Amino acid sequence: MSNTIRSKILIIEDDPGICTFLKATLVAENYDVIIVGSGQSALDVIASHCPDCILLDLGLPDMDGNRIIESVRSWTPTPIVVISARSMEADKAKALDLGADDYITKPFGAVELLARIRTALRHTRTTAENDEIALTGSYHVGGMTIDYNKHRVYVGGQDAKLTPNEFRIVALLGKHAGCVLTYRTMLRELWGPSASTDNKILRVHMASIRRKIEPIPSEPRYIFTEVGVGYRMAEQEETF
Ligand code: CA
Repeated sequence: MSNTIRSKILIIEDDPGICTFLKATLVAENYDVIIVGSGQSALDVIASHCPDCILLDLGLPDMDGNRIIESVRSWTPTPIVVISARSMEADKAKALDLGADDYITKPFGAVELLARIRTALRHTRTTAENDEIALTGSYHVGGMTIDYNKHRVYVGGQDAKLTPNEFRIVALLGKHAGCVLTYRTMLRELWGPSASTDNKILRVHMASIRRKIEPIPSEPRYIFTEVGVGYRMAEQEETF
């Protein structure tokens, strides 16, 4: 991916070894990198340097990283990718619900990190629809097409015959392709602020959706499960 306008990445992380790895990885990809090791200095730097993307460790010496997410989200849509040793699903869901765009669990590799950053830079939370949908009214990935005008999903050119609710779920994920949507976010987006917090309705719909769109429903290639957190639709750059 060409990176002629250098994107500025702020790393908020107190572990020197991880900072060294992150900096080397990002500088090699031609990103500008700023590193801070505490929450308070992070808030100052975000205000003064306006980074294009924030990589945030949740376990900081002076504050819980979730507080940074809350603070940043109160005034800017700058994408936030959480980097965390916490593999607990509840922690991931909480960070996403507070407004983080994505998370990556330590240990992780350079390829995965760079893919998450590219995705985060493409989407900001102010973008209601991704560029392709805005331009063409449809979203394509692999052999699947979501037609937002006709409210239909085609796989290999065949109408997948989704129900209206199934279409709404797929359409929502397509608009945020590459990003994890939490169960709570999806329930609220689809059925309003007073929606049930029971994920079962999503799981039932998803099982039916996968039978209709996935060549092998148990090995999804279009819609991935983020266990205990939510769902994510594939992006075109993911291998098919
Ligand atoms: Ca830490």
